[in-house]
Amino acid sequence: MTPRVGIVGAGAAGAGAAYALRGADAEVTILEKSRGVGGRAATRRKNDCRYDHGANYVKEGDERTESLIRDLGEEGLVDVEEPVWIFEGDGEIREGDDDEAHKWTWTEGITQLGKRLLDRTDAEVRKGTRVERIAREGADVGSERSTWTLTDTDGATHGPFDALLLTPPAPQTAALLEATEWDDDRLGALTDAVADVEYRTIRTFVLNYPFREAFPWYGAVNVDDGHEVGWLSREECKDGHVPDGESLLVAQMAPDWSADRYDDPLEEAGADAAKLVADLLDDERYADPEWVDDQGWRYALPENGADGEAVRSAEDAGLFFAGDWTVGEGRVHRALWSGHDAGERIAERD
Ligand SMILES: Cc1cc2nc3c(=O)[nH]c(=O)nc-3n(C[C@H](O)[C@H](O)[C@H](O)COP(=O)(O)OP(=O)(O)OC[C@H]3O[C@@H](n4cnc5c(N)ncnc54)[C@H](O)[C@@H]3O)c2cc1C
Repeated sequence: MTPRVGIVGAGAAGAGAAYALRGADAEVTILEKSRGVGGRAATRRKNDCRYDHGANYVKEGDERTESLIRDLGEEGLVDVEEPVWIFEGDGEIREGDDDEAHKWTWTEGITQLGKRLLDRTDAEVRKGTRVERIAREGADVGSERSTWTLTDTDGATHGPFDALLLTPPAPQTAALLEATEWDDDRLGALTDAVADVEYRTIRTFVLNYPFREAFPWYGAVNVDDGHEVGWLSREECKDGHVPDGESLLVAQMAPDWSADRYDDPLEEAGADAAKLVADLLDDERYADPEWVDDQGWRYALPENGADGEAVRSAEDAGLFFAGDWTVGEGRVHRALWSGHDAGERIAERD
């Protein structure tokens, strides 16, 4: 019988896994709580602008990433040419050591990565489906093979699946493991290992202005954790994102600031963020944006990675994990390959 594979999450890891399984004898179903795919590699449209409000670009990590990106089609591929500069607590933006040869996104936004990967698969993506509970069924009633069944927040069930891959950020995966019925000693240690991973919180503000300055940089990153702005970038450096004559700044606030101000109303927090940006750019016009948008990322970037041995301890029972937290680095390409590798291991199962 064709193995049935369930994947929770359609971010880079989930899409990477489905992509790896595209040539295998497998029936793949992805359950995604959002209405779109891409996870934290996300794009939004507003007032004729398009902006990547989570991950800014896919970093050229290695040759296989470059080759995969190009295989997904060069049409609409954007390579941001301007460099990333640096600043410290004093707010002076200066040239850094930008070693990143390619910084990829697409004219239609970075969400194209997930879309293009999934378009090349037969995977069924059930969007707007938040998985709440997991159950292991079969083994103790003597059926031939145990399976995994999922229940979503509307009470609908999905599965059974012969293999299950969980890709949400570690705290959300740990919550799913806590809501898993599986009479097996490994579950407790596995849940602890996943729950051990901590994340930095980032609140992103998107600031639009009816003018455009020619800075020599695309982005500027705070390198000493001494500034309230952690990252500032110019979305207009990406073809197709911002109409001529306008500028769109993406300000990712530092983790402490973001955690303190996470739930503050947009009007108030956005005005304070714009003031900080204006100070950083030493130009008061930036304190008064035409419009502002925001996104809170409670689980933005993993601080550490999970114990690899624990995370792979249930693979013989068909339970797999992938995502940036399994590799300990918040990078789109790392998440993608962790999913791809898990997909290959699933394909190799008997
Ligand atoms: C503000 C910010 C800036 C960043 N900048 C960069 C950058 O410039 N370059 C870079 O390489 N990386 C960057 N990163 C990191 C990068 O975005 C992540 O490391 C990567 O996208 C993680 O992919 P993932 O598949 O592991 O997780 P995710 O993208 O989080 O995917 C997990 C998916 O699971 C879904 N999900 C969660 N719980 C459930 C559930 N119960 N049921 C169903 N679905 C569920 C989520 O909706 C999500 O779609 C940034 C991240 C943030 C937040």
